[in-house]
Amino acid sequence: MKDIILTGDRPTGNLHIGHYVGSVRTRLAIQEKGGYDKFYIMIADTQALTDNAKNVDKVTNNVIQVVIDYLSAGIDPEKTCIFIQSQVPELFEITSYFMNLVTVARLKRNPTVKSEIAMRGFENTLPVGFFCYPISQAADILAFNANIIPVGGDQMPMVEQTREIASSFNSTYGEVFTLPKGVLPEIKACERLPGTDGKLKMSKSVGNCIYLKDSPEEIKKKIMGAYTDPDHIKVSDPGKIQGNVVFTYLDAFCTDEHFKKYLPEYNNLEELKNHYKKGGLGDVKVKLFLNNVLQEILTPIREKRAFFEQNVDKIYEMLFKNSEIASKEARKTLEKMKEKMALNYKTISKK
Ligand code: ATP
Ligand code: MG
Repeated sequence: MKDIILTGDRPTGNLHIGHYVGSVRTRLAIQEKGGYDKFYIMIADTQALTDNAKNVDKVTNNVIQVVIDYLSAGIDPEKTCIFIQSQVPELFEITSYFMNLVTVARLKRNPTVKSEIAMRGFENTLPVGFFCYPISQAADILAFNANIIPVGGDQMPMVEQTREIASSFNSTYGEVFTLPKGVLPEIKACERLPGTDGKLKMSKSVGNCIYLKDSPEEIKKKIMGAYTDPDHIKVSDPGKIQGNVVFTYLDAFCTDEHFKKYLPEYNNLEELKNHYKKGGLGDVKVKLFLNNVLQEILTPIREKRAFFEQNVDKIYEMLFKNSEIASKEARKTLEKMKEKMALNYKTISKK
């Protein structure tokens, strides 16, 4: 069986470098390699509304922003099916059948939901929709029978829960679903890139991000203000790498080639880290190196953005067309589910 890939993002803001290394880079590698059956990329507007119900404009306005970010980063609409979640009504129906297969206790155990509830201060104001979003995410994946799900580390519990839901459906009503597999980035630092503040993961909802569309000045300003090692006060002091976001970003982005180009006194990141740990290497020097690396990677993306910003109508056309394709595909799965659940009354009554 050829692979069916599904992945997505919430349209709550522009894409940041955490998305790039956590999921977009994996997508680009899959797209480059080819040989898959289908590759869906979903803009999860319905999911974004679960914690932005009174902020609909923010969600709807960001749909096009996220798609422009994809295209600028190199996602090819000829090789992928980019669609909008809310335009595929079958997903709601599938979600509601899945809801009967999941306990409240199981949802409460989901570690990502737990930390997102705390982060959003939802202890006493938790919307039911938000609490249940892992179930709707399972519907998004299973509606297309996707088997490969490129995600950042925070989404692995969702893929796990999706596998449970698929198994539960199959054993309760009959085989419909294959069990999907989450694919994490190859580099550990990319699974959960921290924000520039060094506290939480880089996240649109927290605002601790370096965005793909940031200007060169914004990128530099954010890097120069990024969290390093608070005990590394004098250049001569030994410094810590652990928890130092500047080094985490270098882990995620820099190659030996970057050293040759921008910091030839070191051969590789290992040597730079060793010098920092020993003492005698200032934060500013490391930050300026990181700035060179990130500017090199982000400049072509930002330049392509200018072109796509002039073609918004065409992009929407592509999204509507693809959403119809996705809807037809999801309907096929829904029909199969209803048949197994004996909800196919019309077919039965004709017999
Ligand atoms: P929000 O704050 O609205 O939840 P977000 O920044 O967390 O936004 P999502 O749209 O929830 O972004 O995530 C989209 C994809 O990007 C997911 O696969 C997620 O795992 C991945 N991702 C998000 N943030 C990071 C990060 N900091 N590091 C690595 N991957 C990430
Ligand atoms: Mg998120």
